Amino acid sequence: MSILVVGSVALDTVETPFGRVEEALGGSAVYFSLAARLYAPVRLVAVVGEDFPAEHVALLHQHGVDVAGLERAAGPTFRWSGRYDFDLNSAETLDTQLNVFASFHPKMPPAYGDSEFLFMANIDPDLQREVLQQVPDTKLRALDSLKFWITIKPELLASAMSLVDIVLMNEAEARQFAGTHSLLRAARRILELGPRALIVKKGEYGAVLFSEYGYFVAPAYPLEDVRDPTGAGDSFAGGFLGFLARAGEITPRTLKQAIIHGSVVASFTVEDFSVERLRRVSWDEVRQRYEEFHHFTAFDAIV
Ligand code: AMP
Repeated sequence: MSILVVGSVALDTVETPFGRVEEALGGSAVYFSLAARLYAPVRLVAVVGEDFPAEHVALLHQHGVDVAGLERAAGPTFRWSGRYDFDLNSAETLDTQLNVFASFHPKMPPAYGDSEFLFMANIDPDLQREVLQQVPDTKLRALDSLKFWITIKPELLASAMSLVDIVLMNEAEARQFAGTHSLLRAARRILELGPRALIVKKGEYGAVLFSEYGYFVAPAYPLEDVRDPTGAGDSFAGGFLGFLARAGEITPRTLKQAIIHGSVVASFTVEDFSVERLRRVSWDEVRQRYEEFHHFTAFDAIV
């Protein structure tokens, strides 16, 4: 099953205690695509400016990502700059230059009309609604968001959430959106809007799934060296939805497996800056880490 992703394609300048990159390939749609392509065909809808290096487009293409929906507009590419200190769980945004992203309106190439899965990354909730109108026949729709949209467009975001099957948010965002410190209560309020499942991402502490089938929790893969957490959330989403697209069905079992796949793929992303590690990861490496997850999370029932 093919997955359509709409999100940002960016040039990121990132500083962590372990190094710095300038104007490196980034953006939510890029991390998502390079993760999800390990599982299923991916189609990308996004915008870049005239200054966007052709080699980045070539990289996506070489990794099997369909870039027919990558629009090149007049003006500079979206740029994001962030810094992490030793607590790698939250980025401090230093600068956001929307550039061509400011006037972006997603346009689906006609060939994308039969996409079965849809992921709308951290874009304006108004644009998320535009996307939903353009691809009404998708079988599974998911969205992610950002603190920024939760703060300035909470009602529109709530309305976009009511139209999707799966919502992904990080812990602080879920609490802020629902206006409660209790994650359980926050999850209940979000599920009451309509989605079948909510994934709350907890950075190095893993991820939690709340759904009609109950509660499931997965730790993050224990890594000795995390160099750059940028893109962890989007690659988690790529592994999660990629696996579901490959499995072809949403059941309590596949949802749990998908959470582990999300955690596995995100663990590769954070091992290096930008997409350096993610672009090189192989299916065998994914499989091996998945097996390790199985061993370190399995325990016997009480006797
Ligand atoms: P993550 O670390 O998975 O939450 O996402 C990081 C990516 O989000 C970076 O590569 C940024 O380019 C991108 N990003 C940051 N701010 C925004 C924004 N306002 N809109 C869209 N994408 C953004």
